[in-house]
Amino acid sequence: MNPVSLIQLRHIAKTYDLGAVRVHALRDVSLDIEAGEFLALVGPSGSGKSTLMNTLGCLDRPTTGSYLLAGEEIATLGADERALIRNRRLGFVFQNFNLLARTTALENVELPLLYTPGVSATERHDRALEQLELVGLGDRLDHHPSQLSGGQQQRVAIARALVNNPDILMGDEPTGNLDSKTSRAVMDLFARLNAERKINVILVTHDHLVARCTRRVIVLRDGRVVVDTPEIDKGLEIMQAASWETGEAAEETMEEEVPPEEQTDPEDSA
Ligand code: ADP
Ligand code: MG
Repeated sequence: MNPVSLIQLRHIAKTYDLGAVRVHALRDVSLDIEAGEFLALVGPSGSGKSTLMNTLGCLDRPTTGSYLLAGEEIATLGADERALIRNRRLGFVFQNFNLLARTTALENVELPLLYTPGVSATERHDRALEQLELVGLGDRLDHHPSQLSGGQQQRVAIARALVNNPDILMGDEPTGNLDSKTSRAVMDLFARLNAERKINVILVTHDHLVARCTRRVIVLRDGRVVVDTPEIDKGLEIMQAASWETGEAAEETMEEEVPPEEQTDPEDSA
C-alpha cells in the first residue's frame, strides 16, 4: 500500500456565494503532493490560484471535498484548529513581504514563536538568529524593514516562515514585487531550502522564470486543474493557450446567476 501523500485533495470545490451570483472559484480539484516537492501554481488571473493556495494553506475551508494534510482531514476543521495546523506545519511568504515596519529583522522572525507554546525568550532569539543566518542576513539583525532592500525583506520573511520548522513553504507571487535579478536570488534560496532541507515549496506565480525553477507545474483555468506536469515548458505553453481562451470564448463561466428565490444572505455562507 502506498503511504499517504503529504497533501491529498479530493474533489475540492470552493464556491463564493455573493447573493445574486455564485462564483465557482475551484471545481473538482483532486491532487496529490508528496513530501519534498517543489511546484508552481499558474494560470490566468481569476483562475483560482489564490483560492487553491489559501485552501492548501488552511486559511480557507473548501465548500465541498476532502483535504488530507499528512493524513489529517482539514476540510472540516474550525478556524482555531486550522490556525494550530498552520503554526505547526506551514510557512507563508507574501508578495508584499508583510513585515512589521517598526520592528527589527530579528523581532520579525521571532514573532511566530510567540504563538508557539513552551518556547523561551532565549530559544526564540536563538532560533530566529539561526534562520536569519541561513538566509544570509546574520549581519542585518537590528535593521528595520525600511533599511533593507526588497530582496532582503523577502529573505527576512522567508526566515520568519521557516522559524517553526514547517513541512511546507507557501508563497502567493512571492517575487511579484522584485526585479528579475532579485527574483532569481530568492528562487535560488527556495531551491536550496527544498534541496537541502527537503521542505515542500509551493508557489503561485505568473512569472515563467519562477515557474522554470520548480519541478512541477499545475495549470488552473476557470477553477479547474487543466494541466499537471513535470515538463514545465510544456505546462507554460498550455497556460499561454488557456489564457487566450478565458473570458468570452471559455467553455464554462465561473460566475453563475442565482435565481431570486434561491438567493440567501451572503453573510450566512461566509
Ligand atoms: P487568481 O488568484 O487565480 O487570480 P482567485 O483565486 O483570487 O484567482 O479568484 C478566483 C475567483 O474567485 C475569481 O472569480 C474571484 O473574483 C473569486 N473570488 C476570490 N475570492 C473571493 C471572495 N472572497 N469572495 C468572492 N469571490 C472571490
Ligand atoms: Mg491570486
